[in-house]
Amino acid sequence: MRIRETAGWVAGLHPFSESDWVATLYTEAQGKVQAIAKGARRSRRRFGGRLDLLNRCLFRLVEKETTSLLRLEEADLLASYQGMKGDLDRLLGGMQMLETACLLAPEGESQQAVSAVLEEGFSRIEDGTLPLDRVPGVLMKIVSLEGYHPEFGHCLDCGRIPRREDRPWGLIAARGGVRCPSCGIDGESVAPADLLFFASGGEGAGLSLAELSRLSPPTPGAIDVVRKYVRALTGKEIRSAGLRWTG
Ligand SMILES: [Zn+2]
Repeated sequence: MRIRETAGWVAGLHPFSESDWVATLYTEAQGKVQAIAKGARRSRRRFGGRLDLLNRCLFRLVEKETTSLLRLEEADLLASYQGMKGDLDRLLGGMQMLETACLLAPEGESQQAVSAVLEEGFSRIEDGTLPLDRVPGVLMKIVSLEGYHPEFGHCLDCGRIPRREDRPWGLIAARGGVRCPSCGIDGESVAPADLLFFASGGEGAGLSLAELSRLSPPTPGAIDVVRKYVRALTGKEIRSAGLRWTG
């Protein structure tokens, strides 16, 4: 039996038995893990509301040799993000970040860099210093940090650089890039303005969230570029990216 303490976020709760939840956690030390929270369903007092979706906690996890499922022994609340949860648009922004991180994290590996992005992203959504239309840039930053850095700055085939006035380009997710209209859009179409947004910082791990916040905003379709790219990488959907914020 091994006990490990790590900070992280509650990414999901699923009934396991009449009295227990299985919690999906995104942790700094091990990435996405699943842990059984004994007694959490039977008594609200057991975890006292700390196991709410998106909460940041210090988790105490017990590893057993007989099962791959961890046991959640304790969760100390570090942040509950009431400002983010109090508004549907902000809530969606936070969910999209956490879901993207969960979908791409390799199991059992330390996730310091992405955790730092989530921590800063959540607090910036909370205090309003990250405009929500810049969230797709944060998602692409997470994608890049996980090692799936896309190349949106030029055409895969002829090398041409996107211009704002171009017709839509084609997203060739399997090749990690895009193709210009002259080379043929063989895939999902992307607005050149979104490619310029991602290429000027959002696509890369380079820009800080403060710098991202100051970029001129992409089109409302930018979230779909991330959604389609992540779908091509993982075969799974960022479910919260299918919902639309209103402003
Ligand atoms: Zn081309």
